Amino acid sequence: MPELAADLRGTINHKLDAQKPSGIRAFDAEVSKIPGIIKLTIGEPDMDTPEHVKQAAIKSIQNNDSHYAPQAGKPELLKAISKYLKDTRGVDYNPENEIISTVGATEALVAALFSLLNTGDKVVIPTPIFSLYFPLVAMTGATAVQVDTSADDFILTPEHLERVLQREGKGVKVVLLNYPTNPTGREYPKETLQGLAQVITKHHLYAIADEIYSDLVYGVKHYSIASMIPERTLFISGLSKSHAMTGYRLGYVAGPAEIIASIHKMHAYLVTAVTDNVQAAGAEALSNGRKDPLAFRKIYEQRRDMIVAGLKKLGFKLATPEGAFYVFAKIPDQFGKDDVKFALQLAKEAKVGVTPGSAFGAGGEGYIRLSYAASDENIQECLKRIGAFMKKLG
Ligand code: PMP
Repeated sequence: MPELAADLRGTINHKLDAQKPSGIRAFDAEVSKIPGIIKLTIGEPDMDTPEHVKQAAIKSIQNNDSHYAPQAGKPELLKAISKYLKDTRGVDYNPENEIISTVGATEALVAALFSLLNTGDKVVIPTPIFSLYFPLVAMTGATAVQVDTSADDFILTPEHLERVLQREGKGVKVVLLNYPTNPTGREYPKETLQGLAQVITKHHLYAIADEIYSDLVYGVKHYSIASMIPERTLFISGLSKSHAMTGYRLGYVAGPAEIIASIHKMHAYLVTAVTDNVQAAGAEALSNGRKDPLAFRKIYEQRRDMIVAGLKKLGFKLATPEGAFYVFAKIPDQFGKDDVKFALQLAKEAKVGVTPGSAFGAGGEGYIRLSYAASDENIQECLKRIGAFMKKLG
């Protein structure tokens, strides 16, 4: 086994070296070792990929669909994404030069951030939020300006954004939004997005909108900021959550042709193109599987109601999530504010795995995230265990 030469130690990319591994995964790995634990930690659908989507992937392999695809994506996939976005989000993207299919929304985020940002730029990020954004922004040489939204029920208001931009002065280039939000499940109302769009335009900024959970909303309508300011928005999404396809790794980014051309370059440097049969599956999902997320949505909504009611009964305060599959619950005062300590104790003593809120940036301290992409039985059992744990402690 080769050991790194002593004279090479400490010489790798310092920006990368400075990044800590994902708090969520590190915590998950630690609690996974506990025998008998039920985990509500990782954000991944527990459903199967729809059968017709699987068949499309199989057919593609059998047809020897095994050559380099066009870098941006196969025409049938790009057309399917374009039509889907037009029909469901009211935004018109030309499949020929305004959309790139990517290896998950993750690659779309990497390619978009590296295409836009220069050293010294600033990116406004409302928090708590999906923690991947922080190391990615740092790797580009830009700085993340975390904006704690906990005082506004985890929504970045236009007034708050305006205050932040006044304070930061010049240098902010991008506002990075994710709604429905991981980890809070909050959905942004239309008026809030319109207000944010105005502020973003006034300050000559880009918006990056990660809307990967937008097919999983409960009782509210999803609006896209891309439909309001398409000329300055990069729309990012994927099929991991909507069609339970996390392992396929399929996402996409859409926006003005000029920026998409740069993202195309970055995407080509990173991966060349998305895997052929994955593209075939994605085209099938978006063309003939528009209703697939509705079935998932029904199940998640029932689970959401169950877990929200259960947690409230136990004394947790929380803003009811309108989308995704997460609940972000405030730890009752008598248990203190140390969310990492609380989550660790919960894992060890009650055998319930949750994610400490501080893993999601400023404003997440004192909270825990519970993912309800889990069976009804597991959710009920976790609520029972959490209740018994709190009774014993409190
Ligand atoms: N954005 C958000 C907000 C997410 O929560 C996740 C996955 N947890 C991703 C992007 C990454 O999605 P993908 O599987 O498509 O890379």
